[in-house]
Amino acid sequence: MILIGLGANLDGIYGSPEQCLQACSELLADAGVYIVQSSNIWKSAPVPVSDQPWYCNAVCAVETMLVPQQLLCALATIENDTGRERHEVNAARVLDLDILAYNNEIINEQHLTIPHPAMHERAFVLYPMQEIAPHWVHPQLDKSVDEMIVDIPKGQQIKRIENSQLLSTYVDKQAILS
Ligand code: AMP
Repeated sequence: MILIGLGANLDGIYGSPEQCLQACSELLADAGVYIVQSSNIWKSAPVPVSDQPWYCNAVCAVETMLVPQQLLCALATIENDTGRERHEVNAARVLDLDILAYNNEIINEQHLTIPHPAMHERAFVLYPMQEIAPHWVHPQLDKSVDEMIVDIPKGQQIKRIENSQLLSTYVDKQAILS
């Protein structure tokens, strides 16, 4: 299972943060990354706590022929095309795209760490992820999403926007042929 985390808390060329996440369905598909299943969009207070606007977050399961390093480049290109500026760590952003998991691979390279190093501490990753992959097991921690949620550091505010899943773009060729 390949899982991507999406986040945004500034208006940009696609409109509000929620509209930007919705636009990602098509932007990802144009890059050869197809959404199989999406969580709802969740609103979350900034981590670490700050006076930035709340974030919109979602997690998507995707299908792609891209290997992890190619996928990272594709995500960075989409971020840049939406006008993402990189000033400082944890700054507000028009769009943030992270590779949370790439099947069961463990990658520790200079510019790429998979599973994403902070995913197990973040409510805004784990709650959306629980909607689509509750039984996915972290290959290093050997814990499912349900189990990691129990250990989330306290005090992270988050709430779900009902019926806000991103559009799926994956077409199952087998299903069409049968
Ligand atoms: P940010 O956009 O602030 O989340 O950070 C992007 C930086 O994190 C890029 O320079 C990436 O090379 C690096 N990075 C390391 N691992 C990952 C990952 N799993 N997903 C996305 N970015 C990653």
